[in-house]
Amino acid sequence: MTRETRDLVIAGSGVAGLSAAVYAARADLDPLVLEGDEPGGQLTLTTDVENYLGFPEGVGGMELVQRGREQAERFGAAFERATIEDAALDDRPFELSLSNGESVLTRALVVATGASARWVGAEGEDELMGYGLSTCATCDGAFHRGDDVLVIGGGDSAMEEALFLAKFAESVTVVHRRDELRASEIMARRAREHEDIAFRWNTELLALDGSPEEGLTGATLVSHPDGLPKEKLSDGDAEVEVEEVDVQGVFYGIGHAPNTGFLRETSVELDESGYVLPRTDDDGRQTTETSVEGVFAAGDVMDSRYQQAVTAAGTGSMAALDAEAWLDEAAARAETAESPVETTA
Ligand code: NAP
Repeated sequence: MTRETRDLVIAGSGVAGLSAAVYAARADLDPLVLEGDEPGGQLTLTTDVENYLGFPEGVGGMELVQRGREQAERFGAAFERATIEDAALDDRPFELSLSNGESVLTRALVVATGASARWVGAEGEDELMGYGLSTCATCDGAFHRGDDVLVIGGGDSAMEEALFLAKFAESVTVVHRRDELRASEIMARRAREHEDIAFRWNTELLALDGSPEEGLTGATLVSHPDGLPKEKLSDGDAEVEVEEVDVQGVFYGIGHAPNTGFLRETSVELDESGYVLPRTDDDGRQTTETSVEGVFAAGDVMDSRYQQAVTAAGTGSMAALDAEAWLDEAAARAETAESPVETTA
């Protein structure tokens, strides 16, 4: 069923989408927020957020997004539990086909669909995801009281997962493919100084053992003194070592991929990893506009570099301001086109 044309739809309800919703609702744009698969976005999967301005004691990720949603609703933003399955962006208004079977027509769109956890590609991961294999320590960590667990990755996500899991697990081992962490100084130090967290350097996960019935029972690791062992294994390098380890939980913390599948067939320009490429304006300044007029992007979906809650909130507000200005200009253009040509006597 297609409904009345809206001024603005915001796809995504993480920090970026919520921030856009607060700004757009305050500007009387009556935005509709499509909540997506993970309402509240990635912050709902995190514990304490310590670096969001204004919370000297830190704030829970879930609490932060709940408060953001209340703030957006207070100004009149509407929320709907749906994702965009197909976006027809060549004609105006845009037509969005939603996962709940409905269609929405909108003059402008803010894409704030974020990014989702990446998978390693280890044998057995499809079968064991949710049965001992997880991408979210805060969601599943408590199931691993007294277990031996692995965390895969060397960035901030992996350090955060390891630190959280150390509260429950008997042992936590971070498995990193090189011998140097990518994580920020502070997170790396906390993990390295933690007595229950060990590191396996120059090591990668090859396969997982177990079944949905018995859960995860072990993992196969591959290592090489110079790092990136999987590559070397396929090259037949004699220094590669393969080892089975007895673990009951494995957590992936290897970064995220942007949720832009629904834009692949559209004219919205994406980079080689699928992130939305925002345009620069005529003066060379960065905007939140995409290559399709009337489509804007905010948050992690257009930012593979910073990916912070506070930067997502910032770009969310920018996208709403850019959308508001664009809608005003479009309305002014339409009015000029409709008004009769003035003639002089
Ligand atoms: P990231 O910084 O891109 O780190 C990903 C890590 O996973 C890297 O160490 C990478 O190894 C490894 N990796 C990638 N693909 C792999 C594969 N196929 N197999 C094995 N290892 C693989 O991602 P992130 O940790 O999710 O962080 C993303 C951004 O969010 C960063 O800006 C980070 O600061 C931020 N963040 C902040 C916090 C916090 O402040 N509390 C928490 C989470 C994330 P290489 O190092 O060899 O490339």
